[in-house]
Amino acid sequence: MIRREASGIPFYSFKAFDEHSEIVHAVFTRLGGVSHSPYRALNVGSSVGDAPKAVEENCRLACQAMSVSGTQVVTAWQVHGNNVGVVDARDWGRVVPETDALITNGSEVNLILRFADCLPIFLYDPQRRVIGLGHAGWRGTAAKLASQMVSAMIDSFGCDPSNVLAGLGPAIGPCCYEVGPDVAQAILPTLQNLQSAIQPSGDGHFSLDLWEANRQQLRHRGIKQIEVGHVCTACHADEFFSHRADKGSTGRFAALMGIRNSS
Ligand SMILES: [Zn+2]
Repeated sequence: MIRREASGIPFYSFKAFDEHSEIVHAVFTRLGGVSHSPYRALNVGSSVGDAPKAVEENCRLACQAMSVSGTQVVTAWQVHGNNVGVVDARDWGRVVPETDALITNGSEVNLILRFADCLPIFLYDPQRRVIGLGHAGWRGTAAKLASQMVSAMIDSFGCDPSNVLAGLGPAIGPCCYEVGPDVAQAILPTLQNLQSAIQPSGDGHFSLDLWEANRQQLRHRGIKQIEVGHVCTACHADEFFSHRADKGSTGRFAALMGIRNSS
């Protein structure tokens, strides 16, 4: 991933999407917004205890940095499940209930999801001009959210996975993500190669690599071009909101993806 800045707001983007100027996408950090500690500063989470006015302003700042209209946004009430919402311009301003991924082929239908350690999954099919944005922690990974996103792109828009580009954004890395045997057991059936995603870390615990587990899921579905942004949110809690590093009292950073109007 590449770290960039627009209107004083830092964000990360994928090299893989760079040549596709019709795509707008970003993973924001916690820097550049108006919220105060523990939500300092660019918090877009409205259910974490931050002042609603500050959250609203942060969303406006993030959209403005990407030259995206704040009214042409669709978001979701994220519940660590595997529901995928297929949306279009009629959904502008909507919060899609109990959904952890959004898919669209509509221009200026800007998808925004919120993160604090979970994995942002970006998908783009340049042939069909279809995008997908997902949110997967261990529950979403175990429930095969990434795979569900691919299915939705095939079923709703006829996408061919071999054309799809994928980006896996900043998330809690295996360096910091120790899980119990129950979590390891839940992820196990989704993996093609166990060792590269789950390693024993002592005392019956395991370190879980969300990037690798989701990369395997996407590869298994036929996606070949996958860029993994190995940026650990817990190692960089000064730059990202991290549920673990901040011991639960923290904000949410935004991931945004949209297709620009070509006219
Ligand atoms: Zn780490």
